[in-house]
Amino acid sequence: MANPLYDRLLAPLKGRDTTFLTLQDGTHLSGDAFLRIAARQAGALAAAGLKPGDRLAVQVEKSPEALALYAACVMSGVVFLPLNTAYKADELEYFVSDSAAGAVVCGPASEETLRRIAGAARVLTLDADGTGSLSDAAAGQPDQFRPVDRTDDDLAALLYTSGTTGRSKGAMLSQSNLLSNALTLVEEWRFTPQDVLLHALPIFHTHGLFVASNVVLAAGASMIYLPKFDVDTVLRFLPQATSMMGVPTFYTRLLADPRFDRAICSGMRLFTSGSAPLLAETHKAFEARTGHRILERYGMTETNMNTSNPYEGERRAGTVGFPLPGVELKITDPETGATLPDGEAGIIEVRGPNVFQGYWQMPEKTKAELREDGFFITGDIGLVDPDGYVQIVGRAKDLIISGGYNIYPKEVELVLDDQPGVLESAVIGVPHPDFGEGVVGVLVAAPGATPDLDAIRASVGEKLARFKQPKVLEVVSELPRNTMGKVQKNILRDQYAGVFS
Ligand code: ATP
Ligand code: MG
Repeated sequence: MANPLYDRLLAPLKGRDTTFLTLQDGTHLSGDAFLRIAARQAGALAAAGLKPGDRLAVQVEKSPEALALYAACVMSGVVFLPLNTAYKADELEYFVSDSAAGAVVCGPASEETLRRIAGAARVLTLDADGTGSLSDAAAGQPDQFRPVDRTDDDLAALLYTSGTTGRSKGAMLSQSNLLSNALTLVEEWRFTPQDVLLHALPIFHTHGLFVASNVVLAAGASMIYLPKFDVDTVLRFLPQATSMMGVPTFYTRLLADPRFDRAICSGMRLFTSGSAPLLAETHKAFEARTGHRILERYGMTETNMNTSNPYEGERRAGTVGFPLPGVELKITDPETGATLPDGEAGIIEVRGPNVFQGYWQMPEKTKAELREDGFFITGDIGLVDPDGYVQIVGRAKDLIISGGYNIYPKEVELVLDDQPGVLESAVIGVPHPDFGEGVVGVLVAAPGATPDLDAIRASVGEKLARFKQPKVLEVVSELPRNTMGKVQKNILRDQYAGVFS
């Protein structure tokens, strides 16, 4: 019988004595050694009573053992449920109870909290250094584990969305959702066994977990596996790497360091960006500094990757490229669901083998967002330009309606970003007594600059229709961002909720 993810991604590690992970201390872990860790963990999960289909909630620091735990779940048929390390007790309670997790693996510091929360679920620990009660239990298990049979449609992971627009939802991802996307990306991005991916992303999110790790596994490549993004460490390891996947803040932080230059990138063939919009300005500055054009792509927890700029061909700044092979994408009218012509902005819908099975225990929400014909209503607004490149305009939930007019924040942000002394901006709508919503522009000053707000108002007045112009402009030291570099507009909306009342 079969276990598609195991057979294609993990079985090739068996007997592989070459490096799979290079760690921050310079040591190496071979493919075979990694698989043996996972096999022992799989034995420990089974011994703890977890059966295929049960959920394992995991909130641990990034370590080789933490990644092996994903492999152990694949082997034992347990549904992997990774959680952001930033989540606190109340949030954890929601995830553990919502998922009815059969067991929880957490850092030693939160063991007590989780025991309180977890009810009947077993609680095991895994520390950043790989020790803990999980590893103790694994040590008593054989270093081989016969992978359980799984079909394409069996769930492999329950991945909660980032909670940028509201409460996180559990996206049910099947074996073939994950595998099909990994295989597509290996082809599209030309990964080979010679590749060394610099991995500085968290592994509780789809980007670092599935996009990065599954692609490396599917290609038989290796990674420089760093606990977190730290500029000094990344600069130290870059000369050994061939590729890197990042969120936009990785690239702006590298560009802010004068040591980051063409020479340090000379062994690199690919930098990709996603999870949040990459400013066209960053794209250009990066090319000027390194000679590399960042390849921007677009995806989400529910679908893995949907679109990508081309490996060969023009990587167009400000766009997320073309639908991946096997992925259908259409732009629809938010009210009627009718397909809109190219060039018009509307809701992005996608269909393909990558699209998830639905939201965990949210049949109503699943029905509202996953059409019967298989198209998923992403909630992102975008358009397809005359050359077929997809542009993300923003999220439907961030759309501002002021005096009956629709305003796409991105259009206003692009104008604000261009103003002298402005590094970046976020535009939001907040309650306004006359207009329903009023536009607020939140600016971050460029280093050492003080933006002249009157001059900016005058300039914006020439470029944008009156109803789009921010009625209030504020300068802040930084925009609120989550770990994936996403601007948290809900926090800004709360902060400025009263400015017009
Ligand atoms: P929630 O669904 O809980 O509100 P979230 O949508 O932020 O949170 P994720 O699944 O982590 O959770 O993020 C997917 C979203 O990230 C996409 O829907 C899109 O809005 C955004 N995104 C991803 N890649 C890009 C990109 N290249 N450019 C712009 N936005 C992107
Ligand atoms: Mg989302």
